[in-house]
Amino acid sequence: MRIFDPHIHMTSRTTDDYEAMYAAGVRAVVEPSFWLGQPRTSPVTFLDYFDSLLGWEPFRAAQYGIAHHCTLALNPKEANDPRCVPVLDELPRYLVKDHVVAVGEIGYDSMTPAEDTALATQLQLAADHELPALVHTPHRDKLAGLRRTLDVVRESSLAADRVLVDHLNETTVKEAKDSGCWLGFSVYPDTKMDEDRMVAILKEYGPDKVLVNSAADWGRSDPLKTRRVGDAMLASGFGDDDVDRVLWRNPVAFYGLSGRLDLDVAGTAATHEGNSVLRGGE
Ligand SMILES: [Zn+2]
Repeated sequence: MRIFDPHIHMTSRTTDDYEAMYAAGVRAVVEPSFWLGQPRTSPVTFLDYFDSLLGWEPFRAAQYGIAHHCTLALNPKEANDPRCVPVLDELPRYLVKDHVVAVGEIGYDSMTPAEDTALATQLQLAADHELPALVHTPHRDKLAGLRRTLDVVRESSLAADRVLVDHLNETTVKEAKDSGCWLGFSVYPDTKMDEDRMVAILKEYGPDKVLVNSAADWGRSDPLKTRRVGDAMLASGFGDDDVDRVLWRNPVAFYGLSGRLDLDVAGTAATHEGNSVLRGGE
């Protein structure tokens, strides 16, 4: 089983995770920039983080045979902090970089006016840079959050078929599918979506434009959830082709809209700016 995790925060994960992911079949990931838990106090800390997503993290992934790309943005939560918002002025020079395959994650957290502005601004940035967009939908008030998100997408110059709406569940899947957007599902250990519910949604709505991710980060999460969904699909009667479509071909097609997907990790250097994952030894 070949697996592409289209939303995972590897910065927060260990080399053990990379090893286990490779063993489970993961060969490609996309890491969206996000909230690190500790609030940032200035735009420059975003820039160091973006550089890390473009440099150190793809290097680290390649040591474990995994292709790494990223999506960059001002995340929904920190869009509410005036100290962070000026990073929007810096984004254009980052969005032209090779390994950036979308603008994201953008969207709503608490559905504030500041989030409205950041979402609309960044959908326009995506359109200007001919990039797709990864749009987070809120974990509370899900249906209202999805509707407001889709309204902003419709008002933007970005076509719906260049937008992935993420963190969907049973309450939001139908309206998201009707919108023409790509459909993202984050599968978590014990809350929100799990693998059996994911299989039930696939049975009802089919695999077209569906992407499944672990959204693993610094919180309680499991970077092997993609594999567990693949296994659950097979156990429930889906064939290998459907599994490959959901876990590989759909993410390749969506992020391929950027024209920048490069899934070949062979030939990556053993060090990055003089540093290896071995910490100076060997
Ligand atoms: Zn995320």
